[in-house]
Amino acid sequence: MNTQTIGRQTIRGTVLYGPRDIRFEERDAPTILEPTDAIIRISATCVCGSDLWPYRGISPVAGPSPMGHEYCGIVDEVGSAVTSVKPGQFVIGSFFASDNTCPNCQAGYQSSCQHKEFVTTAQAPLLRVPLADGTLVATPGVPSEDLVPSLLALSDVMGTGWFAAHAANVKPGKTVVVVGDGAVGLLGVLSARQMGAKRIIAMSRNESRQKLAREFGATDIVTQRGDEGVARIKELTKGIGADSALECVGTQESMMQAIRSTRPGGYVGYVGVPHGVELNGEELFYSHVHLHGGPAPVRRFLPELIDLVWNGKINPGKVFDLILPLDQVAEGYRAMDERRAIKVLLRP
Ligand SMILES: [Zn+2]
Repeated sequence: MNTQTIGRQTIRGTVLYGPRDIRFEERDAPTILEPTDAIIRISATCVCGSDLWPYRGISPVAGPSPMGHEYCGIVDEVGSAVTSVKPGQFVIGSFFASDNTCPNCQAGYQSSCQHKEFVTTAQAPLLRVPLADGTLVATPGVPSEDLVPSLLALSDVMGTGWFAAHAANVKPGKTVVVVGDGAVGLLGVLSARQMGAKRIIAMSRNESRQKLAREFGATDIVTQRGDEGVARIKELTKGIGADSALECVGTQESMMQAIRSTRPGGYVGYVGVPHGVELNGEELFYSHVHLHGGPAPVRRFLPELIDLVWNGKINPGKVFDLILPLDQVAEGYRAMDERRAIKVLLRP
């Protein structure tokens, strides 16, 4: 054995080797590399809808890639420059690490931080988080077990649904359409309800997802898609369209469904990572809709959302309908790929 490896700790973590080839394998435990780093002991992590793009081979995989960008847990160790969190605290961070001080962060767009780093190794028991001061937010105390799923959801899926609703300018009394019945879409429904929307139309043809959408506050369900779906939305809104549409899928069809379901002057918040989406300039011009979206600046919303979860106002953890031990992560990916599960929570 090489003397340099003596005493080095290893962990087992999730690695994607190629399409539908997820392995849980040994690698070096993360360590503090920069004084601004923190190491956290993961309490729970999960599989993201966006993990399915490389899993399905739609996004290319360049060699074995560690996976996971949603996380919460207990701070284990911090670098010498970290001042805002300390060992023993329960923390949540965004999938983009950010300094939270640069002009883009100050403007509330931490996911466009000038020093952003994508977190890619969270489906593991230990995680190195760069820029800990600007990325992690501590909860008021160590949460009870039953709060952990909802707190984990804030790391991406709930923060993303919330951003979709924000970007779509959801306001009290408004009519909102949600395109996409994955976890983000469902939490977009919850967000719209929390922001006071009067009418929330969820587009879904899956019964169990329709049920959860209603639980989260959907007032109407539309099962049609594409042009038929748009026609149904127009029917439900006196021919005008919705004030706000949340696009939570990222395909050409879902994007057009969102834009065409929105009234002139209305807003589309799009958070589905676009895959092959192309917009026609002329159609966009005459649609008169506002378009805003992108990777959600989750860090902006964490304090407010932690407060809502901590005080029992929202329960976004309900989207986790399958909980597995982390070493069964491959089954978690399969369950989501086959739409047997809405979202899979993994416990180290
Ligand atoms: Zn920044």
